[in-house]
Amino acid sequence: MTQITLHGAVGEIGGNKILIEDGDTRIFFDFGLSFGRWGDFFTPYLQPRKWNYISDFLKLGLLPDLDGLYRPDYERRLRESSKEPKFDGIVLSHPHLDHAGFLSFIRPDIPVFCSIGCKAILQALEETAFGFHEYTFIKEAFKLRPSKRDSSKLVKDKDSRIKREFNILETTTKIDDFTIHTYPVDHSVPGANSFIIETSEGAIVYTGDIRFHGRRGTESDFFVEKAKSFDPVLIISEGTNIEEPTSFGEMDLQQKLFSLVENVPGLITVNFPVRDMDRMRSFIEAAKHADRSLVVNLKQAYTLGVLEENGVKNMPTIDEISIFIPKKRWGILNDINYPVEIQMRDYLYWENKLIDRTNSVTADDISKNPKDFVYRCDFFELKNLFDINPQEGSIFIRSVTEPVDEEMELDLKKAINWLMFFGMHPYEQVHCSGHASGYDIKEMIQKINPKYVMPIHTEKPDEFNSFHSDVIQKGLGVKFSLS
Ligand SMILES: [Zn+2]
Ligand SMILES: [Zn+2]
Repeated sequence: MTQITLHGAVGEIGGNKILIEDGDTRIFFDFGLSFGRWGDFFTPYLQPRKWNYISDFLKLGLLPDLDGLYRPDYERRLRESSKEPKFDGIVLSHPHLDHAGFLSFIRPDIPVFCSIGCKAILQALEETAFGFHEYTFIKEAFKLRPSKRDSSKLVKDKDSRIKREFNILETTTKIDDFTIHTYPVDHSVPGANSFIIETSEGAIVYTGDIRFHGRRGTESDFFVEKAKSFDPVLIISEGTNIEEPTSFGEMDLQQKLFSLVENVPGLITVNFPVRDMDRMRSFIEAAKHADRSLVVNLKQAYTLGVLEENGVKNMPTIDEISIFIPKKRWGILNDINYPVEIQMRDYLYWENKLIDRTNSVTADDISKNPKDFVYRCDFFELKNLFDINPQEGSIFIRSVTEPVDEEMELDLKKAINWLMFFGMHPYEQVHCSGHASGYDIKEMIQKINPKYVMPIHTEKPDEFNSFHSDVIQKGLGVKFSLS
């Protein structure tokens, strides 16, 4: 008997945690963080209690209460952990946090399956981001060890790490009773896949997050053709933009950028999502068009390096961009009164690896030659503009989604204050979504022609009823049986 249970992404965008069970095989597809539910309780000033993560998150409905799933060091605050894992794998569709963010809580003896691009992004995130990111390794918490000086004394053990088993998905991968066919698809982050899962009661299609209007639309088309050939019984489909009739495409966006960057007399400052490498490609091309170089931050440059090391294909390379080295902590970068080794101590270990590259630039370099650069700048980096000092005729291009909640609206208001201060408001808004339009989702489902449709990752699941007669809507944690 094949059963599907949604433990997230029901009536909301993100937080995907899909349990598919068939006989003795139990596999989660994605194990993401629900930003909506998280935002109902937490703010930057009211953060979870690290020592009691799992217990608190279970009570708040952020994690499902399942045995044999969670890492014992945190679960022990709640109950005795099972000796053995009770799940056969976690399969990740892509590395966005609403799909992979809660992997940090999973026991290390449950194997993870994903694409090499997904693994590389998670690895870069783990090495560079603040917060609880334990994907490829887990650091065992609350552990003691004998002191090295006096073995009769116990000290906190902060170095104990367990490697997680990561398996890179082949086009066809067998996990116990499941045969999983993996197809790369178009989305707004490297390493995104859709799946066709062969079970004892027919094929199940899971889209993950998908679109058709980006640089990789033909990959999504190919997946749809393959999915159709399996004559599936069920599609679990995202529906983020199910109410949007059409989509503005990535190539339209690049064309718009070309026209915006021509003949700008000052600095071009831009913002786009940190891990959207296809958007970075659009900005690299736009910068080239204006005979400039795109300047990205250390985190993006480091991520490009990790993608390259892992052999992820069709990505921008670190040599195609310039790397912005900001002043940090003491603000003594290039200050001759301080030895270079002391200057370097202002930077983290992974940042140090990038500082000496020939394509690294400082605020001074940009300030002296603003017409040579397109400077990418996140909201929290707007303060670097004090050092860059943009002159009259400088512009700002915003290429991220419009605010979806009060917090984002407030951030945008503050960003506008900064832009007005530096004479760069009004800004230009040019963005294209990472998700398929309603028209494209409808066309995809009609082509694949499954018996049942299960909408997830959408606030409007009822919309699916307008084009399919068997739409399954179950509540959180309620099983749906295929037989
Ligand atoms: Zn998502
Ligand atoms: Zn996504």
